[in-house]
Amino acid sequence: MQVTAHRFAPHDLVGGDLAVDLVNTATDWDVGPQDWLDSYARLLSWAELTGQVSAAEIAGLARLAAADPAGASQALERVRGVREALYRVMRAAADRAEPPSEALAAVEATWRAAAGAMRLELSPGGATLGVSGETAGLDLIALRASASAMVLLTGERLARLKRCDGPRCGWLFVDTSKAGRRRWCDMATCGNDHKAKRHAEKRHLS
Ligand SMILES: [Zn+2]
Repeated sequence: MQVTAHRFAPHDLVGGDLAVDLVNTATDWDVGPQDWLDSYARLLSWAELTGQVSAAEIAGLARLAAADPAGASQALERVRGVREALYRVMRAAADRAEPPSEALAAVEATWRAAAGAMRLELSPGGATLGVSGETAGLDLIALRASASAMVLLTGERLARLKRCDGPRCGWLFVDTSKAGRRRWCDMATCGNDHKAKRHAEKRHLS
């Protein structure tokens, strides 16, 4: 996959779920995929935007990466592997198709690692089960996304998991619209391309 530097912005987060947003850090899946995660630091800047990794956790990961650059590169490779497997499985789910069995096995294996790094925390508001940074180390983001994927894949929201209708795109999203008729990752990009194309076709016909 071609690696491209990309400055992440809030409008890149259209997935509605941490796992879905992670797979959307690669784009143009069907026509020569581009990988927007060109470094571990980039992964951190993306994770910060998601709001699913705290500022303290980001700072801790940045310290770990600075102390162990080779370890950070290996962790980035693992994130890419997790992303690929999650994409294959979630895309199949969105297309209501059978997922490739190796991808399913890989997602299951990562989930097992995520479960091993989970901690149960009790508070007056209730209990939460989350991947702990202390145990996950540099793999925190990959494991947290895997845990999120499992909740999505085994829950009711799966019925709302869709693939963008843009012919080049391949991005996935959870359609949270009331009517459930969302077709595009983003109206401003793929939705707009489609509209422009329809206008061009109309002009051509008249
Ligand atoms: Zn799209």
